[in-house]
Amino acid sequence: MQSGFYRDTWVEVNLDAIKQNVVSMKRHIGDEIDIIAVVKANGYGHGAEQVAKAAIDAGATMLAVAFLDEAISLRNAEINAPILVMGATRPSDVNVAIQYNVTLTVFSIDWLKDAERYITNEELHFHIKLDTGMGRLGVRDEAELKSMFVHANQSPHFVIDGIFTHFATADETDSGYFDEQYGKFETLLASVPHQKLVVHCANSATALKYQRKLYNAIRLGISMYGLTPSIEMKKKLPYELQEAFSLQSKLVHVKKITKGEKVSYGATYEAKDDEWIGTIPIGYADGWARHLKDFEVLVENKRVPLVGRICMDQCMVKLPHHLPIGTQVTLIGQQHDQIISIDDVANYLDTINYEVPCMITSRVPRIFLENMSIIEKVNPILKR
Ligand SMILES: *Cc1c(COP(=O)(O)O)cnc(C)c1O
Repeated sequence: MQSGFYRDTWVEVNLDAIKQNVVSMKRHIGDEIDIIAVVKANGYGHGAEQVAKAAIDAGATMLAVAFLDEAISLRNAEINAPILVMGATRPSDVNVAIQYNVTLTVFSIDWLKDAERYITNEELHFHIKLDTGMGRLGVRDEAELKSMFVHANQSPHFVIDGIFTHFATADETDSGYFDEQYGKFETLLASVPHQKLVVHCANSATALKYQRKLYNAIRLGISMYGLTPSIEMKKKLPYELQEAFSLQSKLVHVKKITKGEKVSYGATYEAKDDEWIGTIPIGYADGWARHLKDFEVLVENKRVPLVGRICMDQCMVKLPHHLPIGTQVTLIGQQHDQIISIDDVANYLDTINYEVPCMITSRVPRIFLENMSIIEKVNPILKR
């Protein structure tokens, strides 16, 4: 991958924060429970390969992704840790999973029967997914679950390594639905021999809140990136999370406009007086959504407003006074005592923090920091 980039917009990913978040979680749950680091969706937009390496370094023992392609991309980056694909894989791709030594998720007896028709001579390792109330993927009944164990045990091609479920409401204050799901998980689990399996039910929220309900592994996603699983949990976190992601740009053009002059498409913004307007090279094609119109960014340790519509590649800010070209603009992150957090952006967009770093597209280069220095720059659009 080409290491440089030629535009004044970039993401900084603090890998020390990722490591600290893994270490803090490990301390919180104890040594007997393993951490599966969830790096799907390019590590929630941070960079899957780099986050995966940092997480393993900090004590995670397995990685998890959503799709087989994501797992293969980690293998291509020479990551040898165990990888679990949590989403659905086509039965016809079973040999690809085996070839890359990737653990799949199986969620029905029919999948096993189908895959058996394709599988050549090797063994597929997999975890069974139970649907205890999420209504997404998973085995819902005991008879089917038992038949999967029978089928796998009779076949030379299948090895059950683990069994898991996923909660729909672990991040909510009311634990009613969580308790129901947990109860169903316990019941289904009790119906099969699971003593030697990796048994996991916890996402970040569950691991943070229900320390004694974690079986022997957790799937750590959002809080590894230093983000709270929900706003309602923010005040009750058992340890401090370190946000790893920041989004930076620079002023590339600065001009004075006079009262009545307009800015951007639709000419919707009109200067009320003489005003200094700066242009920054980021727009909705970078994931800086058009809905962020009128939001704020940090310049010279102060919050300043975006003005006019956000364009595909650029947007404009109103500056307090003249500032030189090259002045740093922080769209997400900290400048001295001022912070625009991912939660602030999510709140403004009426979404959840998970979506925000995922929105920032691969057109924005990622810079990776460790021990305060840059260790890698990734710019996929110049990939050869
Ligand atoms: C994404 C995902 C996780 C991670 O959840 P967080 O809330 O980010 O910790 C865990 N399990 C499954 C099945 C997932 O899809």
